[in-house]
Amino acid sequence: MSINNTYKEALIHPIFEYISKAASNLQLETYVIGGFVRDFFLERGTPKDIDIVAVGSGIDLANEVAKLLPNKPKVQVFKTYGTAMLRFDDIEIEFVGARKESYNEDSRNPVVEDGTLEDDQNRRDFTINALALSLNKADFGTLLDPFNGIKDLESKIIRTPLNPDITYSDDPLRMMRAIRFATQLGFTIETASLEAISRNAERIDIITRERIVDELNKIMLADVPSVGFILLYDTNLLDRFLPELTALKGVEEVEGQKHKDNFYHTFEVVDNISKNTNDLWLRWAALLHDIGKAPTKKFHKTLGWTFHGHEFVGSKMVYKLFKRMRLPMNNKMKFVQKMVLLSSRPIVLATEVTDSAVRRLIFDAGDDVESLMTLCEADITTKNPSRFKKYHKNFDIVRNKIKEVEERDHVRNFQPPISGELIMETFNLKPCREIGQIKDAIKEAILEGEIPNEYDAAYEFMLKRAEKLGLKV
Ligand code: ATP
Repeated sequence: MSINNTYKEALIHPIFEYISKAASNLQLETYVIGGFVRDFFLERGTPKDIDIVAVGSGIDLANEVAKLLPNKPKVQVFKTYGTAMLRFDDIEIEFVGARKESYNEDSRNPVVEDGTLEDDQNRRDFTINALALSLNKADFGTLLDPFNGIKDLESKIIRTPLNPDITYSDDPLRMMRAIRFATQLGFTIETASLEAISRNAERIDIITRERIVDELNKIMLADVPSVGFILLYDTNLLDRFLPELTALKGVEEVEGQKHKDNFYHTFEVVDNISKNTNDLWLRWAALLHDIGKAPTKKFHKTLGWTFHGHEFVGSKMVYKLFKRMRLPMNNKMKFVQKMVLLSSRPIVLATEVTDSAVRRLIFDAGDDVESLMTLCEADITTKNPSRFKKYHKNFDIVRNKIKEVEERDHVRNFQPPISGELIMETFNLKPCREIGQIKDAIKEAILEGEIPNEYDAAYEFMLKRAEKLGLKV
């Protein structure tokens, strides 16, 4: 093991003094390890969590630290994992005893034994995540870097400490983590590692969807998510959990007519939208906005390639995909469905902006109309500069029109100016079909611009409509 320099400046947070004191009280060799150390060298800002490893009981150490801390925080103990956690200054501090892990072929769970710091570093996923700084009095701040993690940080390389085939096969989640770190940090995955991921891709099937989604979400929230998605595709991982996306791959040509590659187009859209929003679900909507194109693709002699109804089909697919991937089946899913369903509407509008079409768009999109416009702008991936400019200009016009119509007509979160009760009272009706018909006709007249969205006009309209239906006041 190589012992390098001392980095006391990484340990200026008061918590480290308490941990060091507690370690010395219990005579436990103790280190800070993993993401905290990596992010210190990468200057990634304030940490949200700190991992502490003790050669001995991590739980005892956590209890001793809590005893020394002035606010005596609660220690959460996870007996099965032999770990403990406490919170200090909004930072989660995890304590674990150094361990040696060995996996066998048919079990996902390793056999765990107590071990040395070196054993513990061996079980870490990447060289850059195996860096440790000593918290022991004798060599406080000394860096322990057995796998040249610092060199890999400098050359921006993701590499496993041990044989990558074994590392990935033992815990296939590490394949997702490799790609996630490469995406978040802008690092390159070492070739041997990349090849090992491709070889072990099908092992990802033993990992729960929730853990896969955790990593996918982190990739999705990176500055340039396409880096991760293309790596997932190239290593054959993507097809194992998002086949709807890989189905978009490729360009077909019939009678000299081609369609665009909707797979790479999708990632361009995700990258574009990521410059304008950090909303995870809007980014998911960008990822899924074209998934209906694979099942609806047709070649038509006169029209060429068509994807009729892909927005509707796509929004149905969103439901199934969310369910399968254990993504939240709540209003987040509904939002993504809605974005996919409406994803072509502003494009149609851009060619002819009429008041009534804008009113309908606001009515259908409601409070999500802004998000929808952001999605549609991100969807402009043409490489032709004059078209690019023209499409953006058209969307500026649509945005202005939305503002203007909204200020005048207030159809966002539309509340009918005439209620069903009023219709029943006016015409002395019991609940019946005609009430719905009148309400619908009023709504349509407002959206079409035949009448303003106001009570008096709607009342007049109701009277005329009712007369046609043979109803009397
Ligand atoms: P981030 O907080 O950005 O996710 P992190 O490196 O702190 O980064 P954690 O998931 O908190 O990630 O893991 C803490 C440390 O535990 C890692 O740095 C790594 O050393 C180790 N680790 C986590 N997951 C694994 C795994 N699946 N296999 C091996 N080591 C792992």
